[in-house]
Amino acid sequence: MKSIDRSAQSAKRIVILGAGESGTGAAILAQQKGMDVFVSDMGAISPAYQALLNQHQIAWEQGQHTAELILNADEVIKSPGIPLTTPLMRQLIAQGTPIISEIEFAARYTHAKMICITGSNGKTTTTSLLFDMLRRAGLDVGLAGNIGNSLALQVAQEDHAYYVIELSSFQLDNCYDFKADIAILLNITPDHLDRYNYEFQNYIDAKFRITQNQTASDAFIYWSEDPIIDREIARIHPQATLYPFGSNQQNMAYTDGKQLIINAQEHIEPLAIPLDELSLQGKHNQYNSMAAGLAAQILHIDNEVIRQSLQQFAGVNHRLQYVATVRGVRYINDSKATNVNSCWYALESMNTPTILILGGTDKGNDYSEIDQLVHDKCCHLIFMGVDNSKLIQHFTPSGIPFTSVNNLHDAVQCAYQVAQSGQTVLLSPCCASFDLFKNYEDRGDQFMAAVRQL
Ligand code: ADP
Repeated sequence: MKSIDRSAQSAKRIVILGAGESGTGAAILAQQKGMDVFVSDMGAISPAYQALLNQHQIAWEQGQHTAELILNADEVIKSPGIPLTTPLMRQLIAQGTPIISEIEFAARYTHAKMICITGSNGKTTTTSLLFDMLRRAGLDVGLAGNIGNSLALQVAQEDHAYYVIELSSFQLDNCYDFKADIAILLNITPDHLDRYNYEFQNYIDAKFRITQNQTASDAFIYWSEDPIIDREIARIHPQATLYPFGSNQQNMAYTDGKQLIINAQEHIEPLAIPLDELSLQGKHNQYNSMAAGLAAQILHIDNEVIRQSLQQFAGVNHRLQYVATVRGVRYINDSKATNVNSCWYALESMNTPTILILGGTDKGNDYSEIDQLVHDKCCHLIFMGVDNSKLIQHFTPSGIPFTSVNNLHDAVQCAYQVAQSGQTVLLSPCCASFDLFKNYEDRGDQFMAAVRQL
């Protein structure tokens, strides 16, 4: 990658493609650093970001990409949503213009310690939990990446000493010199293959960029039982010090069936916490808790602070989120479970008979993955979608009673009728939400509102 030419007579021209949270933040930082900044978005820029760009007197366009205002860039900062295969991107690549991510750009202007989290599932939960630990410990910390304000905006306006950053594979794609002081890789399962030329290895390589530039004084925390991660570590030998977590004592964090044990530093007492005291329940959340706990210990956060966070962290909205107890029935919102694997983990964590609400836009789901857990845990199924025929066909042979509905109001009313005291109603749909809702947040919000009206 080209380095910044600070000796140039005229200001360096930075073009930012995509004016969402990361693009707008990058524009403000670039302008603060005295660069000649232009923002271009093929879609519509939200009024809030338009106002922010205007307030900073940054030139922008929407609904088009004007080639002559873009191809003269010294460097392009690309939104993670834009694939490298568009005609404009191909032209920029062909003429050798460096294309970087907002994270790569922002990191040039801060000395903060970077703690970065990636994986196919569990990023937001682990990032939020670790942020909670650092805040409780009184550290000056910012939350960035896919959550909250962009890293660039924080670096420009309120730089912190630490950042906890959620990184998608797309954000990692255009990172080159960026280095994570602590990298966490939770798991790798096939995802977003349409953006990776339908090659799983390309997606794996993107995820492993989280370890690039790391040295032995940096930390790499990872799930040791993930076969893909295991294989890649043996192949590429990351330079960082390794901190594996998993289900046996060979790991630096593990469970013994009763407790979660976190032991990143040999010279300090391990932290041991009973599994039933963890605020985030379920096997997947044990892994997320281990990863966050290891990172916190590496940062020398006191075990008692980590324990408090693990016991009291309120969780993240729409991920196994407790809503209310009505007539002795617990209602749980797991609307973010947009695939079958997430629903598997949600069901696995249930310990009372469960009325499961599922359905929506099917992405070629194979429901047999959850057959055993549905058999073991569910007393009633509610299919909620425009077209429930695939669900009906799949689950009829299980013999578990079911109801088919076409809207959320009917789903919650049905759950209310069939659930008995001591049972749980779980919304964990396995499916995308676009048939009946704007997005998964809208689905979760409507569910919670309907439950609270019961
Ligand atoms: P992401 O940010 O990676 O999408 P989230 O923290 O938002 O992940 O969790 C999304 C869903 O994935 C949750 O509802 C949960 O069911 C599932 N999940 C969370 N953590 C893990 C994990 N470590 N392994 C597998 N599935 C998980």
